[in-house]
Amino acid sequence: MDQAFDMQAYMTRGVERVVGDIVRATFKNPRESAYMARFALASRAASKKRRKAENAGEHIPPFLIASITSQCNLHCAGCYSRCNHATVDEAPAQLLTKEEWLRVFKEAGELGISFILLAGGEPMLRRDVIEAAGEYPDILFPIFTNGAFMDEQYFRLLDRCRNLVPIMSIEGGRETTDARRGQGVYDRLTAGMAGLHQRGLIFGASVTVTTRNIHEVSSDAFLKNLSERGCKAVIFVEFVPVTEDSQELAPGDGERAYLSREIDRLRAEHPEMVYISFPGDEKSRGGLCRGGPGVLSHQRPRRRRTLSFFSVLGHQRAGRFAERSAEIPSVPGAAE
Ligand code: SF4
Repeated sequence: MDQAFDMQAYMTRGVERVVGDIVRATFKNPRESAYMARFALASRAASKKRRKAENAGEHIPPFLIASITSQCNLHCAGCYSRCNHATVDEAPAQLLTKEEWLRVFKEAGELGISFILLAGGEPMLRRDVIEAAGEYPDILFPIFTNGAFMDEQYFRLLDRCRNLVPIMSIEGGRETTDARRGQGVYDRLTAGMAGLHQRGLIFGASVTVTTRNIHEVSSDAFLKNLSERGCKAVIFVEFVPVTEDSQELAPGDGERAYLSREIDRLRAEHPEMVYISFPGDEKSRGGLCRGGPGVLSHQRPRRRRTLSFFSVLGHQRAGRFAERSAEIPSVPGAAE
């Protein structure tokens, strides 16, 4: 590994680029761009905090993934989380409370974490935690949702708290989306997008890329459709196979190279949306997410007994945050 590589400088540039792209993408929406301009300042201040910690020998990642529930209402084909029993039908009895999540968000902010990705299960089942996240305007909370629970109450909350940004999971058009996610999911998703758009609320889309849908989801037609519905960011996530019979859906080197070229083209030809790819953007910069020095941390929804309560991707230290998290009351028998 290149010893001269400066992780904090690289991450700071990456975050500033994404924030700058979002500010541009929301330019015609005054309320949204006012919030994003404010967030850009907060994000710069957060970068300085991380830099200071780095200089003192403590690595703070800029992103945290908070899995706020393991409950989900859908049974999507090939869902790795369900296959690993990390996602279930019913809410487990020992989920972290809203107050405990508030504490996590507060401490993450103090450490200089600017983005907290709310995930699940289906995170919109935890309205209490999402309302709590709205109280931290200096942190941007993308909410990775299947869109089933987007209702009037959520529209009002998202309108009031511009730091909460839904990222809707979609697999392509109606046929492709419903084939993986279930009948009627596409129509519910697009109805939610329409409600957001009518109210001037921004949202993004998360697209699981497989060998089957790669051409559809990188096509101008699909992306134009998303943009016209009000989408401002598209996150391409490579399908990860968890069963033998789904191996053929996993993109190989050829598909990855194709997607990478398409994303470069889209960034040049359609700058009205932001395009991010996982792990593509990370791999092209040295595999930062999976094995490198730490772009992401991951906080799980249930209580655990030990320090490893703070579950970390990439083996980085989370410093003060990890130590303090360990003080949260333990629950005997709680499993990951
Ligand atoms: S919505 Fe997400 S967590 Fe739920 S089954 Fe589908 S892929 Fe899995």
